Formats: sequence, C-alpha cells, structure tokens
Amino acid sequence: FLSGKRALVTGSTSGIGLAVARALRDEGAEVILSGFGDEREIAALCDELGATHVAADLTRLEGCEALMEGAGPVDILVNNAGMQHVSPVEDFPPEKWDLIIGLNLTAAFHTIRLAVPHMKATGWGRVINTASAHSKVASPFKAAYNAAKHGLDGLTKTVALELAPYGVTANCISPGYVWTPLVENQIPDTMAARGMTREQVVNDVLLVKQATRKFVQPAEIGALAVFLCRDEAQNVTGANWSVDGGWTAE
Ligand code: NAD
Repeated sequence: FLSGKRALVTGSTSGIGLAVARALRDEGAEVILSGFGDEREIAALCDELGATHVAADLTRLEGCEALMEGAGPVDILVNNAGMQHVSPVEDFPPEKWDLIIGLNLTAAFHTIRLAVPHMKATGWGRVINTASAHSKVASPFKAAYNAAKHGLDGLTKTVALELAPYGVTANCISPGYVWTPLVENQIPDTMAARGMTREQVVNDVLLVKQATRKFVQPAEIGALAVFLCRDEAQNVTGANWSVDGGWTAE
C-alpha cells in the first residue's frame, strides 16, 4: 500500500532503522537508507531492498542538510539515528552531551523542517520518530539521552499540531530494550558504572524493567511504523507509542 511513496529512514544501516526500512519496503515504499557501516554490507543492503544510501554525519547541521539534499523529497520520514553514553552526570563528557543531543534531537528538527514543505504540498506525510521509554521516564547515568528523547517527544507533538491540517501525522515510537548493537555496546559501560557483571546488567538492569522479561525485536518496531503509515492511522498524531513490555506502565 506504500507504492509510490518515498521513505527516508535515518540510522537504517543497523538495528531498528534497518528493520523499519525493510518493513516499509515490504509494503512497496521506495527506501532511502542512511547511516554508517561497512561499504560492502551497505551496498548489499541497497541491492536487497532496491534502496539508495546517503551517508551523512547527522550530529552536524551540514550533514543534515546534505542528507535531505541527497535524499530528495520524501513522503515518510523516520528519524531513528541515535547514540547513547552512560556516565554519572558529574563525569558526563560535555562533548558527548553535544553529540547525543545533536544526533537524537537536533537532527530530527533539521530533517523535519526540510522534509515538511513537500509533505504539505502533496497533502500527505508521515513523520515517525524513534524515541524511547526514556522519552517518558528516566534511568540514572543517561543524562543526555533522557534529555534528548524527552525533547524529541515535545518536538513530535509540536509538529503534529502544526501539520494536522495538511494530512501529515507525526508520532513517536518508544521502545524499551531492543536487542541491537546500541544496547549491546552500552553493557560494558553500565557494568563499570554500577560495578556489575554482564549477566547482572542484562537481568537486573535491562530486562528488569520489562514485565514481559523479553527484549523487543526490531521487526516489532517495523510493524508499528507500517501501521502509522496506513490511512486508518490518519487520526493518530502527536502520540508516543510504547513498545516496552510494560516498562512505563508501572
Ligand atoms: P544502532 O546502534 O543499531 O543503529 C544506530 C544507527 O544510527 C546506525 O545506522 C548508525 O550508523 C547511525 N548513526 C550513528 N551515528 C550517526 C551519526 N553521527 N550520523 C548519522 N547516523 C548515525 O541503534 P538502534 O538500537 O537500532 O537504535 C536506533 C534508535 O532507536 C536510536 O534512536 C535509539 O536511541 C532508539 N532506541 C533503541 C533502543 C534499543 O534498545 N536498541 C531502545 C529505545 C530506543
């Protein structure tokens, strides 16, 4: 049902973004991938998905502008690129703060402001922002990430209100822990910050929050993104959808 639609998914060379890109492609959308990684692997992904790839560092304004220029007009914009750093607030490196706010929040502002004119002109558009359970509640040692994701929720609501008259919706998807490289890579830092073993971090920090006691699978996020693109979801806007195994219900 998405044939004829062009979808840009940031951070789609890996993890959740790749699953979202696959799901949109499976519904017929033309997909534009973005993100870093091994060149040969990205070329293989482009072949598999019939996609193009635009590389850009989205922590920088010029990178965001280059991405939107390279991607061309898009009907579906999925702001998904993100990074994490785990550290007590007093030791939190200021440059990490800037990078995380830049990638997880400011980049979405830039891509949205550059994508919106086409969506308004055609009278149809979907903005989907990958936020996090950390857009609703906090965990210690993630000052920048929590701040960025809470901010992304506010940005999404604002865009939803502004664009409601134009057939454009904007929503957040807020996963709990999804088994991706982003989660795997923060385990050593969390072990250090909390003085725990790997097993303790997985069971007592990560999955302890999810009543289902299961990691979310990337494809589950892809399925929700597809739903948000349906015409039946035209009145779903300004919402923040939890896919967190019950974490934020408590
Ligand atoms: P991931 O590390 O697997 O993928 C991150 C993607 O972002 C990659 O494609 C990477 O190349 C890209 N990226 C990294 N730095 C970039 C930069 N400077 N410029 C452009 N692109 C860059 O991560 P993931 O787990 O799939 O996370 C995707 C999103 O989901 C993030 O916004 C993350 O905060 C959010 N999220 C993840 C989880 C989880 O448990 N994995 C939970 C909640 C929210």
